Amino acid sequence: MDNPQILIIEDEKRVASFIRKGLEEDGFHVEVAYDGLMGKKMALSSKYDLIILDINLPQINGYEVCKEIRNHNSSIPIIMLTALGTMEDKLEGFDSGSDDYIVKPFEFKELLARVKVFLKRSGNDMLNSNILKMADLEMNIDSKTVSRAGKQIDLSAKEFQLLEFLMQHKNKVVSRAEIAEKVWEITFDTGTNIIDVYVNFLRNKIDKNFSPKLIHTNFGMGYIMKEA
Ligand code: CA
Repeated sequence: MDNPQILIIEDEKRVASFIRKGLEEDGFHVEVAYDGLMGKKMALSSKYDLIILDINLPQINGYEVCKEIRNHNSSIPIIMLTALGTMEDKLEGFDSGSDDYIVKPFEFKELLARVKVFLKRSGNDMLNSNILKMADLEMNIDSKTVSRAGKQIDLSAKEFQLLEFLMQHKNKVVSRAEIAEKVWEITFDTGTNIIDVYVNFLRNKIDKNFSPKLIHTNFGMGYIMKEA
C-alpha cells in the first residue's frame, strides 16, 4: 500500500514546514495548504488519510473548515493545532468535529505519536504491519524471521539488525558510517571492515541463490537495497 497521505492546513510557514519535514522523514506523503479556503478545497478532494488543521487561519478559520470536512467525510481523522489552549477552545474544536487537539508549542514526537495512533485506528496497513518486504524477501520484525521466495532463512542477531536497517532505508544509499552507528553503535573507523564482512554474510544468505539481487554496493558511498 502507498504511504499515508497527510494534509497540513497551517498559515505559519515555519510551523508547516517543520511538521512537513518531520512527517516526510517518517515516510508520509505530505501536502500543505496555507489558508482555510485552499485547505477546505484540498481536504474535500478526499485523497488524504489524515488532516492536521490550524485554528487561526486566513479566509476561513479551522473550526469552519473542520465542519465543512465533516459534512462531506465523517471518518477522516482531524488533529487540530492551536495556540489557544482553554477548555472552551478545546470543546469548540471537538464540537466542530475534530478528533484531537494539540496546543502550540508542541514537540514533533508528540504530534507524530498521535498521527500514528489515528492511522492505526483507521486501519492503515503500513503502520499496522511489522513486516518489511522487498521483492520476494520478507522480514517479520516481531517474530524475528526472514524468508525469501517462501524459504526460511536463518540469520544471526547482528545480521538481522543489519538487514532490518537496510530494509528500512530501501532505495536509499546508506553509508558505512551510518550503518556502524545505527547497527553496531560504534563510530566508523576506517580500520574496520566489519560492515563489509557482515554485508557479505547477508548476501550469501539472502541474495546468492536468488534473483533479483537486492543488496547493491554503491562504490565510495555505501550500500543500497533495491530491486533493480
Ligand atoms: Ca495560524
